[in-house]
Amino acid sequence: MILVLNSGSSSIKYRLVDPADPGAGGKGVVERIGEADGPADHTEALRAVFEDLSGGTPDGVGHRVVHGGDRFVRPTLLDDDTVAAIRDLTPLAPLHNPGAVAGIEAARATFGDVPHVAVFDTAFHSDLPPVAATYAIDREVAARHGIRRYGFHGISVEYVAGRTAALLDRPLADLNLVVLHLGNGASVTAVHGGRSVETSMGFTPLEGLVMGTRCGDLDPALPGFLERAGLSPSEVDTLLQHRSGLAGLCGDNDMRTVERRRAEGDEAATLAFDVYCHRIRRYVGAYHATLGRLDAVVFTAGIGENSSAVRTASLAGLEGWGIAVDPDRNDGRGARVISRDDARVAVCVVPTDEEHAIAEAVTGFLA
Ligand code: AMP
Repeated sequence: MILVLNSGSSSIKYRLVDPADPGAGGKGVVERIGEADGPADHTEALRAVFEDLSGGTPDGVGHRVVHGGDRFVRPTLLDDDTVAAIRDLTPLAPLHNPGAVAGIEAARATFGDVPHVAVFDTAFHSDLPPVAATYAIDREVAARHGIRRYGFHGISVEYVAGRTAALLDRPLADLNLVVLHLGNGASVTAVHGGRSVETSMGFTPLEGLVMGTRCGDLDPALPGFLERAGLSPSEVDTLLQHRSGLAGLCGDNDMRTVERRRAEGDEAATLAFDVYCHRIRRYVGAYHATLGRLDAVVFTAGIGENSSAVRTASLAGLEGWGIAVDPDRNDGRGARVISRDDARVAVCVVPTDEEHAIAEAVTGFLA
């Protein structure tokens, strides 16, 4: 059994994965770490996980880490040096990496004598072509601060790309895909022959698509404008990270609620839904151009897998590009092709499973 941990600053999500039996294993979440009524720290939180495993020790532990910077381009066996190097990346991912490091340290203390492997959300994008990775700003400033597009959701996108090839019964090496990971965070990636060649999240996971509470693309002059108008830098951060996206536009960040309000004729929810889907369509067109030939558009994660309305609206009007969703297939369930038989480009729904992907990476180290 592999234990997969996704540690944040105040919570640890965990899952036990049996790589040979995808249905087996338990999962859970320990929340409110460091709060008055929660576990004091990550070590105490992991003791609760340990008890939930009924005393069994995993064969290995996989840790999801959001930011691997330039250094971590593949799953990495953890030792004191690599943990220190992940901690050193904190300036690039202040919201995410400290929680991951706390979880890694607690897990190494709790499950000391099994391999611990870090799997990075940025790694799949680490060989983005320079034209896609480079921001058009002063080169020296960019070099000094490590400013480039890193891209995120890579664990999910790589897994889903592989599953899409299996679904279409074609070699991944021959496929050009646009993968839409639409969850609480949302991103889109162009995948050419199994490699990421363009992705919408950039230096941080704020850029690109409209998200639950994040703005995605903006005029880069806006933060400076808002600061001159009297907001502090941290207020601007909070606005763009937590009070924007669907939540900023209509007050709700859950797409199910947005869809229900839209069905009831609510104007703000309707505009939020439309802005969300408009942004997706723009990226599908742009990435189609990047790839030249497009074989499939793939939807995954909470919204991508479950919202037939978002899939329909995002791809509406693209028949001339060979993209046409079949309404009955769109309303179905599970991994499937939802495009019409006469459409040149396949449209697919492929459920993601980041924990399974992380467990597979750990298994690679055990072998
Ligand atoms: P994730 O981050 O992948 O767990 O995705 C979370 C998002 O999925 C939330 O915004 C939910 O609103 C959305 N979601 C889950 N189920 C549905 C559904 N049936 N219809 C629309 N959105 C959904």
